[in-house]
Amino acid sequence: MPTIKDIMNTMEYGPAPEGNAEVKAWLAGLGDGIGHFINGKFTDARAPLIEVLNPATDASLAQVAKGSAEDVEAAVRAARAAYPKWSALPGHARAKYLYAIARHIQKRERFLSVLETMDNGKTIRETRDIDVPLVARHFYHHAGWAEVLDSEFPNHTPVGVCGQVIPWNFPLLMLAWKVAPALAAGNTVVLKPADLTPLSAWAFAQICAEVGLPAGVLNIVNGDGETGAAIAGHPDVDKVAFTGSTEVGRLIRRQIAGSGKKLSLELGGKSPFIVFEDADLDAAVEGVVDAIWFNQGEVCCAGSRILVQEGVAPRFFAKLTARMQVLRTGDPLDKTMDVGAIVSRKQLTRITGLLAQGEAEGATLHRAPGALPKTGNFCAPGFFTGTAPASTVSQVEIFGPVATTLTFRTADEAVTLANDSRYGLAASVWSENINRAIEVAAKVKAGVVWINATNIFDAGAAFGGYRESGFGREGGREGMAEYLSPAWEKGGKARPAPALAIEVSPFTGKSDRADIDVTAKLYIGGKQARADGGQSYTVLGKGGVAIGQAALANRKDVRNAVEAAHKAGGWGGVTAHNRAQVLYFFAENLDQRRAEFEALLIDSTGTSAKAAAEEVELSIRRAFWYAAQADKFDGAVHATKSRHVTLAMNEPFGVMGLVCPDEAPLLSLLSLLLPAIAMGNRAVVVASQSHPLIAARLYQVLETSDMPGGVVNLLTGERDVLARTLAEHDDVAALWYCGSAEGVAMVETASAGNLKPVWTDGGRLRDWRDPAQGQGADYLRRATQVKTIWLPYGE
Ligand code: NDP
Repeated sequence: MPTIKDIMNTMEYGPAPEGNAEVKAWLAGLGDGIGHFINGKFTDARAPLIEVLNPATDASLAQVAKGSAEDVEAAVRAARAAYPKWSALPGHARAKYLYAIARHIQKRERFLSVLETMDNGKTIRETRDIDVPLVARHFYHHAGWAEVLDSEFPNHTPVGVCGQVIPWNFPLLMLAWKVAPALAAGNTVVLKPADLTPLSAWAFAQICAEVGLPAGVLNIVNGDGETGAAIAGHPDVDKVAFTGSTEVGRLIRRQIAGSGKKLSLELGGKSPFIVFEDADLDAAVEGVVDAIWFNQGEVCCAGSRILVQEGVAPRFFAKLTARMQVLRTGDPLDKTMDVGAIVSRKQLTRITGLLAQGEAEGATLHRAPGALPKTGNFCAPGFFTGTAPASTVSQVEIFGPVATTLTFRTADEAVTLANDSRYGLAASVWSENINRAIEVAAKVKAGVVWINATNIFDAGAAFGGYRESGFGREGGREGMAEYLSPAWEKGGKARPAPALAIEVSPFTGKSDRADIDVTAKLYIGGKQARADGGQSYTVLGKGGVAIGQAALANRKDVRNAVEAAHKAGGWGGVTAHNRAQVLYFFAENLDQRRAEFEALLIDSTGTSAKAAAEEVELSIRRAFWYAAQADKFDGAVHATKSRHVTLAMNEPFGVMGLVCPDEAPLLSLLSLLLPAIAMGNRAVVVASQSHPLIAARLYQVLETSDMPGGVVNLLTGERDVLARTLAEHDDVAALWYCGSAEGVAMVETASAGNLKPVWTDGGRLRDWRDPAQGQGADYLRRATQVKTIWLPYGE
């Protein structure tokens, strides 16, 4: 007689399909297909049409129109027309719309879950338990932001019309991540879903119509990459928000360079999943299930590189293999399935191609057993062993349910391997030793770190990447900031070209001083340095009279300065109190030399004695202000899920490039430098091209202020030549540029290589004396990147 245990072990799963009659009826009601949702109206599906397939059955679900430039034009026009009224509504009125949307989503949870499963191929278990509840949560959370906007973001305005392009892996959730904050802040939207998965966006548009969202506030233009490019490039779009591949992110960066549009990019990843020998191995194995086999591995933050400490590797892989045996891959509408269908034949082909390449490069592929359904795009989950860190599959995003694995010996080696990627989206750390786990979390270069957990999301916590995983954050306070601008920022006069052209030939003009032969040097790694090319340029002061010579830095000097800045990495690790002390000391020393700087400003710029005194006074105050902020602009603990500490840590970028304007040459330089270093960055500063002697005088102050060598590096020379090198440099993590409009376009284009965040002032003059324009939390926010660390607790 079989025991109960025998029976349990031999029991087969029966089918447990979720009913889809309601969705089928809805699809039948679409008639010839879906067009666009523009200005509150649903347009007919006009040719050319794209067929939407159910990836699990290959059955046709609908036809979707491919939006033309005219459709995009109509949508942007509608969004622009709706903007004044929508943005002027009291936050409470917008909150009510968002709340209504959230309620309607909740009422339709089952419908939306089934629709998403049929359109995308992801399992009903996930759409029902993860995607759709999170969508509702995002609208509730952002209804809250709309309500409290005035008090939480004083003196800010919405950005305007937002163009948003989303991918196919979390169609409705990505829509929610983009639409909810945009509308809460008072923007209007033109959104393009992926052509593979447009259906839940259509259902969402119906909800918006149902709740009476004013026409034109949300517009949906269906289509492919060309349609997406038309939205991003439309001249009347003020902000572009994109989620998708790093390649397309780069294209968009270049496409809109110099246009003045705000940009946020959420791109790919190759996220490490680090298992230490003291981890709860069974929990870590379950973690892998949620890391790489969740959503068929089509997850930008999937834990796709498993790093296991050597001592436990055999045991861990044995457990992982055993767990993989019982994974079920098949009909995603079946509630008992773990892994559904890959979104398209093309994506499946891409995945299988990469898997073959992994094997060809010598790795061993372990797959879950069992037959896959005969129709549809299914891919057995698995993992590689024997992958080298530099192999294709270790470096490239597979975007399928297969992880690579590596072993490591020490925590330092784990961190080195974890950071051996051009991406930096997420990481997962498994250890029962909290000290070790948090130390590794702090060292890993990633925007999101889960400790003893993985793939946890919440509307209240920021999500987004470091390095080539993009910039900008979605969710929470940080996400809201992406959809707002300082109120004073609109307009402003264009900044003229530098007053002083670089002249290296011997000076033959008028000079009234003997020290014209003394050349101001560069300041690199804490030392005064001659320009690599040995060249200098003549500096003209008040009345066009030569007042000195400045070193003419070249590309090599930029590289030297970046290298020196890298070596000063300890600055990010000292306490904020220490950094504040250095800044106070700097202010004190500047104060001592007040008269000298005032005289130099008058001599250099021809400004009045009163204005020069004011500039020096404000510079000293600014140093005090940022010294004060060094230990006050700190992170947060977000209220997200129960029994989770969700930390938002403000981390420095590392090495920042700062390119200074001509106006107020001392104050503007310090307005850029002080927030950067107060937050723990090291800076390579290109000083004012026309008034470079200020920088030379400044390094004398730095030398007496206990500023560690390499934290501040000062270069003088041709602004845009040096700015280009900084923009192209892979080891410069972020760039601020205050130059001309052409220079803005140039640095934004040149930065597409490593996709560093670039902040510019649009080539417009600002009043550096005004604290609203030249100082403040916006500078500190731009000088940091938020790392979200998730720390579950409880036995
Ligand atoms: P894409 O980056 O091409 O697609 C993302 C979105 O951008 C889609 O809506 C797409 O339209 C649109 N798009 C494509 N080209 C442009 C363009 N030039 N300008 C504006 N929008 C554009 O990703 P794929 O679908 O091609 O997937 C390729 C790989 O990208 C995957 O294998 C995966 O590695 C990665 N990926 C990463 C994602 C992430 O979340 N980080 C999400 C999706 C993919 P349409 O699809 O309609 O053509």
